[in-house]
Amino acid sequence: MTHYTQPDFFALDELFDDDQRLIRQTVRRFVDDRVMPGIAQHARAGTFPLDIVPEMGRLGMFGANLEGHGCADLGAIAYGLINQELERGDSGVRSFVSVQSSLCMWPIHTFGTEEQKERWLPAMARGEKVGCFGLTEAESGSDPGSMKTTARRDGGDYVLNGAKMWITNGSIADVAIVWAKLDGAVRGFLVEKGMRGFSAPQIHNKFSLRASVTSELVFEDVRVPLENLLPGSEIGLRAALECLNQARYSIVWGAVGAASACYDEALRYARERRQFDRPIARFQLVQQKLVWMITEITKAQLLAFRLGRLKESGKAKHYHVSMGKLNNVSVALKCARLAREILGAAGIIDDYQCSRHLCNLESVYTYEGTHDIHTLVVGEAVTGERALY
Ligand SMILES: Cc1cc2nc3c(=O)[nH]c(=O)nc-3n(C[C@H](O)[C@H](O)[C@H](O)COP(=O)(O)OP(=O)(O)OC[C@H]3O[C@@H](n4cnc5c(N)ncnc54)[C@H](O)[C@@H]3O)c2cc1C
Repeated sequence: MTHYTQPDFFALDELFDDDQRLIRQTVRRFVDDRVMPGIAQHARAGTFPLDIVPEMGRLGMFGANLEGHGCADLGAIAYGLINQELERGDSGVRSFVSVQSSLCMWPIHTFGTEEQKERWLPAMARGEKVGCFGLTEAESGSDPGSMKTTARRDGGDYVLNGAKMWITNGSIADVAIVWAKLDGAVRGFLVEKGMRGFSAPQIHNKFSLRASVTSELVFEDVRVPLENLLPGSEIGLRAALECLNQARYSIVWGAVGAASACYDEALRYARERRQFDRPIARFQLVQQKLVWMITEITKAQLLAFRLGRLKESGKAKHYHVSMGKLNNVSVALKCARLAREILGAAGIIDDYQCSRHLCNLESVYTYEGTHDIHTLVVGEAVTGERALY
């Protein structure tokens, strides 16, 4: 009888080509060697493992889906697999790469000038410069159009005022893509570390994503030169939402990684832990949980793969990404919870991973559009009726 210690019950490996499998293997080894040994300690301390950033740059993980300007151009499926393997380690590590790649490099690549691209993209691809994305505000979350941060033209500058909240990488970023209203229309600006009036205090005491930096961004009469406006952001809020669509794609894959880590841990534990003089894996109720996990992980991997294929052929719509995000994150969250159950008391300490994933996934469930909001996006796509305001 074969035992599946990695969740590949349906031989999904065969979906990927040799290059994609090699990339996945490389990132998996990086996570095993460089992330896993210290991640529990980082989560305890509430710190991000900044020392791994140069190596991630060398391995081509930043902007891996982008073409030119020092980016690896590996395609959507390989980019997905990178995120999957990173989140097998920790959602905070995957978040760092998603934000850098999809929320900062992608908008510069898509909406920026040649000068902006040359200035930022090669250095960000190498991991020498860090980026963040400031859309959410304290009173403007699911409804980003209600943002209060403003920009006004003053001579050769724009002057920004307002504040952003819950910004991943905020305090460690060299550049922030900041969304602000200019004459009532949302535009994207490159705000650089050290600009007078700009500060990025870190938010502490989180239960979730502890190995990730989350910050406020504060703008008090920050003068931003005209050349720091992203010209392609003239399409308004849609530009910001398109960035989020890119980042959500990485979450669809990342969630498979977190769920797989929990399944793997629960399966191992169930086979080793003995009660009533037999392994707990022999009890039907434990088997039911493991079967639910492997079935849902298999379906989640298929959904991610199909989404990747649609993306590579230019056919992926925003509602496909929404369905992927809402399904795969909720599967991952339930897998983490079931793994915690199977581990019994041992599941609540950080010698094991499942509770760290469980807490992390609470943020992933909420950020980049909450589970409810994505449900309404898919609801509109299937009914033609708009419930989301
Ligand atoms: C760890 C972390 C990192 C983050 N990183 C970033 C970042 O880098 N950049 C950034 O800009 N933002 C970031 N965010 C913010 C995140 O995107 C927002 O938290 C998210 O959009 C939800 O906004 P909110 O928290 O204000 O919740 P709210 O919008 O206030 O929602 C509260 C509840 O109401 C529900 N709700 C709201 N509107 C509706 C509706 N129309 N119909 C039904 N239900 C509704 C929601 O589903 C939710 O359950 C991050 C958040 C976290 C937790």
